[in-house]
Amino acid sequence: MSKSKLKSLKLKKATLQKAKAKQSNAKLRINKKPKKNKNRKFFLVKGFKDILPEEQKYWDFIRDKAINISRAYGFKRIDLPVLEETELFVKGVGPDTDIVNHEMFSFSTLGREKVSLRPEGTAGIVRAYIQHGMLNKPKPVKLFYIGPMFRYDKPQAGRYRQFYQFGAEVLGADDPIIDAQLIYMVYQMYNSFKIPINIQINSIGCKTCRNKYIKALKNYLKKNRSKLCADCKTRYIENALRVLDCKQKKCQELILEAPQIVDYLCEDCNKHFVKVLEYLEDIEVPYILNPFIVRGLDYYNRTTFEIFPQNEEDSSQSALVGGGRYDKLVKNLKGQDTPAIGFSMGLERTINSLKKIENLKIEPKNKCDIFIAQLGERARKKALVLFEKLRQSGFKVAENISKSSLKSQLESANKSNAKLALIIGQKEILDNTILIRDMESGNQEVVPEDKISKALKRRLKSLNIRKNR
Ligand code: AMP
Repeated sequence: MSKSKLKSLKLKKATLQKAKAKQSNAKLRINKKPKKNKNRKFFLVKGFKDILPEEQKYWDFIRDKAINISRAYGFKRIDLPVLEETELFVKGVGPDTDIVNHEMFSFSTLGREKVSLRPEGTAGIVRAYIQHGMLNKPKPVKLFYIGPMFRYDKPQAGRYRQFYQFGAEVLGADDPIIDAQLIYMVYQMYNSFKIPINIQINSIGCKTCRNKYIKALKNYLKKNRSKLCADCKTRYIENALRVLDCKQKKCQELILEAPQIVDYLCEDCNKHFVKVLEYLEDIEVPYILNPFIVRGLDYYNRTTFEIFPQNEEDSSQSALVGGGRYDKLVKNLKGQDTPAIGFSMGLERTINSLKKIENLKIEPKNKCDIFIAQLGERARKKALVLFEKLRQSGFKVAENISKSSLKSQLESANKSNAKLALIIGQKEILDNTILIRDMESGNQEVVPEDKISKALKRRLKSLNIRKNR
């Protein structure tokens, strides 16, 4: 082949390669995602909240009290997944409810299962009750849970897309004394939180009385349909009872004149309700009859109740607790006929009410009594071991061992509210001693290292006695 032919062939090959490269670059450009801002910061997803360390003392306070009281009443803890089959909520909560229609975080998994983040706890509890054969356990089965729920609701004050509920359920008992006892227990919880509440109670009867009532209600609403808010115009068709829940002023005015469900209760439902109220009076639980507490979930029957903070206007965002009977839910979810009742407490709203208490003082759980400060490398190693020794002996100890300046360590000691500071310096290392300093009075005492536990116990005891005087 001549030199010139070879050259032109090489050129052709190069041009072809260039064209190919151009083509694949263009393809790459098409597939390339839009340029991201590398310096972009990340923020919370709308409607979600962080619970920061400073907030935790309020959460611990409410959680511990609710858990202790429910354990004292014989409830056992159950923890369930946040994800369940979507169908469970459709069947459990009801296909025409606001929650199922508009508020669920639902999606398909990679395995094409249709699932939802739980919008409430009861349906999952009933699923677990049936799945684990709890119907064979001695009745009633009393369970409590605590955890996050998810609703794709319009975020606003007191309404989040992820919120925490503490809930308790009694399965396998239909006696009205159970309804009263459960309400009594929640009442005692709020007493222990020192949050003033009002308890509003109603009965929505059984299916038979409720159907009669819905007919009467629909008749009344039909005549006044033009006066309903836009949402209630749809609610009237989908689930007329929900109109009673509406907090819009014009709907509330209409509702006041609406027929009341108590006038439609059958004999058995009426008897049940009267008994619940009698028990509540006997045990001195103050309550308000509210014929419009119907609850937004399909599974309820007979007793329904909601709890609101006292001295605050009732609104859909102010309810602290919602609860009621759900005698047919276990059967509806293909379990054995099992009457049941439960409630759920919104923790964010309860904590908001707690924070409004005047002169509220809640100590954080990790509060310490003793702070260990050190100066010099040998002292620092000693402090490392002393911390563990004291912790294992049951003392509440704190440190800031990465700091070397004594001044900044004593500042940390002040911030930690420790009653005593232990100081280990050069001299203490040589003498095998530890200096104890009373953080309030500034008094100091040098103690042999092997006598430190005894000395600390004595000191803390006398400090507590002084405080309690
Ligand atoms: P419910 O399951 O709707 O009866 O709600 C029970 C309680 O959970 C309410 O009384 C509230 O305290 C709380 N709660 C319900 N929905 C929300 C939400 N979106 N954000 C915060 N708390 C809520």
